[in-house]
Amino acid sequence: MRVLISGAGIAGLALAHRLGTLGHDVVILEQAPAPRTAGYMIDFFGPGYDAAERMGVLPRLRELGYRVTEAAYLDDRGRRVAGLDFDRVARAVDGRLLSIMRPDVERAFREDLPPAVELRFAARVVGVEQDDDGVTARLADGTSATGDLLVGADGVHSAVRRLVFGDGHLRHLGFHTAAFVFDDPHVHELVRDRFCLTDTVGRQVGFYGLRDGRVAAFTVHRTSSPELPEDPRAAVLKTYGSLGWVVPRALARCPEEIYYDQVAQVELPRWSSGRVVLVGDACGAVSLLAGQGASLGIGGAWVLAATLDDPATRDFTAYERTWRPVVEDRQRVARSGARWFLPASSRRLRARRIAMRLSHLPGVDRLVTTGLVGKPVSLA
Ligand SMILES: Cc1cc2nc3c(=O)[nH]c(=O)nc-3n(C[C@H](O)[C@H](O)[C@H](O)COP(=O)(O)OP(=O)(O)OC[C@H]3O[C@@H](n4cnc5c(N)ncnc54)[C@H](O)[C@@H]3O)c2cc1C
Repeated sequence: MRVLISGAGIAGLALAHRLGTLGHDVVILEQAPAPRTAGYMIDFFGPGYDAAERMGVLPRLRELGYRVTEAAYLDDRGRRVAGLDFDRVARAVDGRLLSIMRPDVERAFREDLPPAVELRFAARVVGVEQDDDGVTARLADGTSATGDLLVGADGVHSAVRRLVFGDGHLRHLGFHTAAFVFDDPHVHELVRDRFCLTDTVGRQVGFYGLRDGRVAAFTVHRTSSPELPEDPRAAVLKTYGSLGWVVPRALARCPEEIYYDQVAQVELPRWSSGRVVLVGDACGAVSLLAGQGASLGIGGAWVLAATLDDPATRDFTAYERTWRPVVEDRQRVARSGARWFLPASSRRLRARRIAMRLSHLPGVDRLVTTGLVGKPVSLA
């Protein structure tokens, strides 16, 4: 079988890796001219962790990953006001957790692609046609690629989804997020191996020290508008400029090009149509509030590959039947946890501090950690 995949993100690469290993011909079409290096730190556990282990990629992910000691919430003078011990979260998933930069997850899968996988950069999918004989992906440079199936693994703003299922399908969750990496030895020394977050209402900045001496920053703020600003960097400077601690230093070092997007989930009545199917954020974005999008992308890729490999289930229904409930559960949990993720009032901020302090008690500890990691998911 020849499978076209639009998007060399985490979900697309994981699917290509698995399908290639199972003996299928795979062509990945990626719009970026080269591997994307911009990114942010993610927590990696759950079904994607299990799938990566089965694919033999876990040792490399562990090598590239980080060991975060805690998520520390700091006031505007850098004093710790609350925190969450990462060892406790790790224990809730039997130690099967690592923190890793998003581009490094892609790198681990990309480096290990089997020979049956062809990865084409600067290949942006702009059109899709399908009939009884196959599917054609039209590319922005005027060329095209054909296959038996086309998988849209092209992220939350998926072009394949738009071309085949129409516009819409995004549920704005009321936040914008940004991420960038900057150089500052002083901030690096303060942050070290902690995930340091501002303990603030309605907007928050987080920092993590990378092993090359740089610092990864991530921001999130509340806004009712899904519209993105014309100049994301200027918007970040304006929104977070008045926060304390090292935030002004970090913003002064913010590069011209940054990651910026609305925080949204994807809701779609069907994940496939004819020879086209979606995977990862393209069909089931859970958002950063869930802290599991990458993991679900890899887990979904594993289940989709199994479906495609079996001639009896190639109509994708088994994939959607198995995976949709998992995704929808995490979407629900993320939406209901939004008020704790980024409090909208000082009252709720205080309540979160108290909850974190109480989380040291054994019963509450279990409640908090299972709330964070969710229900276990089997890939079998
Ligand atoms: C700030 C932040 C923090 C997060 N934290 C976590 C976390 O802690 N844990 C976790 O598991 N997840 C986390 N996530 C979510 C996670 O990063 C995503 O769910 C995951 O990366 C989605 O992978 P994907 O492959 O589906 O899509 P993407 O990573 O968006 O990849 C899509 C790819 O498709 C390409 N593409 C797009 N359009 C086209 C086209 N027309 N033609 C060809 N190629 C195209 C893009 O260039 C890209 O390479 C976080 C997300 C954010 C924003």
